[in-house]
Amino acid sequence: MECPSCKKELEPATLLNTDVDYCSSCSGLWFDKDELNQVKDKRDPEINWLDIDLWKYEAKFEISKTGRLCPCCRMPLYEVRYDNSRVRIDLCNLCCGIWLDQGEFKKIIAYLKDKADYEVMYNFSKNLAREFGEIFVGPESMKKEILDFLTLLKLLGYKFSIRHPFVARMINVGFPK
Ligand SMILES: [Zn+2]
Ligand SMILES: [Zn+2]
Repeated sequence: MECPSCKKELEPATLLNTDVDYCSSCSGLWFDKDELNQVKDKRDPEINWLDIDLWKYEAKFEISKTGRLCPCCRMPLYEVRYDNSRVRIDLCNLCCGIWLDQGEFKKIIAYLKDKADYEVMYNFSKNLAREFGEIFVGPESMKKEILDFLTLLKLLGYKFSIRHPFVARMINVGFPK
């Protein structure tokens, strides 16, 4: 698979026993749909931070086509934005994979930090991390942000896959085949 941004071959990394792919050149991250779902496990009995209103209002979604291709199925990626968050996620409507630029990842974390719930989410990730011997197998440069990655992976796994049917509908309406 090649990076949608700089076309370099993606490399494997492991996050909480979940395989992800990253670009060693731009530090972008690729999550397969299954990779997102895998993280949804029974280790999470009561996660109240899921109630945050990120991606709550359908009218606040904006979707546009990008010039990038899905590393998995070579279909065009769609850029999904939400309200004033400046958060952008690249999504493949065919395989439901998600691409995150390093910059986008940081914006999402910044956005979450604006919300009171970030502390709760972050502590949750910290507790989760404690349960695993090896949390992350991948490049040194990404290790310092590991708890942010965890928080984000959780958020994407829960929130975004829930929103996905709606986003897919918008893509199909906005861009008829
Ligand atoms: Zn790249
Ligand atoms: Zn795809």
